[in-house]
Amino acid sequence: MATVKGDVHDIGKNIVGVVLQCNNFEVVDLGVMVSCEKILEAARRENAQMIGLSGLITPSLDEMVHVASEMQRLNFSLPLLIGGATTSPAHTAVKIEPNYEGPVIYVKDASRSVGVAQALVEPDSRSALVAKTRKDNARRREQHAGKKRLAPQLSLVEARKRRHAIDWQGYEPPKPARLGKQVLDNVDLDVLRDYIDWMPFFNAWEFHGKFPAILSDEVVGPAANNLYSDAMSMLDRIVKEQWLTARAVFGFWPAHSDGADDVLLYHDDARDKQLMRLCHLRQQRAKAADQPQHCLADFVAPAETGLADYLGGFAVTAGIGIDEHVARFEAGNDDYSAIVLKALADRLAEALAEYLHERVRVEHWGYAAGESLSNEELIAEAYKGIRPAPGYPACPDHTEKGKLWELLQVRESIGLELTDSYAMFPTAAVSGFYFSHPESKYFAVGKIDRDQLESYAERKGFDVVEAEKWLSPNLGYDPNAKEVA
Ligand code: SAH
Repeated sequence: MATVKGDVHDIGKNIVGVVLQCNNFEVVDLGVMVSCEKILEAARRENAQMIGLSGLITPSLDEMVHVASEMQRLNFSLPLLIGGATTSPAHTAVKIEPNYEGPVIYVKDASRSVGVAQALVEPDSRSALVAKTRKDNARRREQHAGKKRLAPQLSLVEARKRRHAIDWQGYEPPKPARLGKQVLDNVDLDVLRDYIDWMPFFNAWEFHGKFPAILSDEVVGPAANNLYSDAMSMLDRIVKEQWLTARAVFGFWPAHSDGADDVLLYHDDARDKQLMRLCHLRQQRAKAADQPQHCLADFVAPAETGLADYLGGFAVTAGIGIDEHVARFEAGNDDYSAIVLKALADRLAEALAEYLHERVRVEHWGYAAGESLSNEELIAEAYKGIRPAPGYPACPDHTEKGKLWELLQVRESIGLELTDSYAMFPTAAVSGFYFSHPESKYFAVGKIDRDQLESYAERKGFDVVEAEKWLSPNLGYDPNAKEVA
């Protein structure tokens, strides 16, 4: 098994590996960012009985389709198992399975991987599982085709007319204390631990529920407590012995919306020299008449208002220095501790994003100087303004991260890099934009149509095929469909 090319996330995959090994499977884990050739070569060399692919970010979905087609081309017949955060039964059925005649099975989580793997190595259960999967996948493809016909989409022109119209009259955009970028070189981990949202840590281990209630749950409480106490003692050591270095870079720029779907950044407050165009997408799925068709650009004042608005950006990591400690655990065959450490580093990165956002609201942008929120209130996002992350539903295009990297010189400033698929490396990292307007909120762009794709591609300087590739999970049509006369 492997995390596919361009992707670096492996906590879920590592857990699958441990669970399968505990059930007497021999697992050859090829690691992260593994090319298709390497995966298929290894499968032949090792005489594998099945191949598992994992990925977290949307570009990995296409890479999985590519692996499936290569398996077909090279006459493989092994089962292909699909897992990871952005994968789904629908994507597996609609996009992956049609490319490969062998079994293609979506595996929801590590706990299911054992049942699937065991079924696949016994001839009787294998044919039953394969038959059932084929039927389920076919049903999902039908459902998917039906859904597409049912959902009416607005034209981009019409959707723009139905934007979220902020009343700019009398609004005074807050001005950041300082423009341009700033770096925090070594954020105190002891401060960050208070900003941790623990529930996602438990989710990584397939616990469900709420924190801290989960610790006193009748059924899973004891197991959750064990994990929590292991995590707390490791966190103590991480902080005391400084296993990790947490770094952040952030900045603010004069900004206007372009009156349509993009945000324009300027070099300085004179606003006569454009620095960059940040491209955004607008919801096209028709909503009720009183519901706006959202686009992030609507939350920034258009130039014609004459208002001096701003936009912020940030990138943070808590993963600097993690490698030697992970290697130490792995060398001692302590996979469990290696996974706990990676999951804690992820938590510290999210905590740093939360902490920095608070500093931004209170101090650096300063529009909520009197704010004082508890950990629970921060997690519930009871604050003004948002920090949407490129690649997530309000701004699903991962390539916009490239612009953040350029604006903030992220690599040079904090040592955080982007892979070919725009995944961040080290993995314990978060990046995004800051919007200050009190009406700004998260939403999901959803499916877009060809008219928007063409407009977007032009604004990005992409050809349509390239834009299609990056936005493939968002297309409301099938780019491979033949036109019917
Ligand atoms: N407390 C959580 C925080 C992460 S989830 C944790 O520790 O894991 C919330 C973050 O995801 C938001 O701050 C934002 O950066 C991103 N996000 C959520 N919904 C989004 C959307 N619709 N579009 C873009 N980014 C989104």
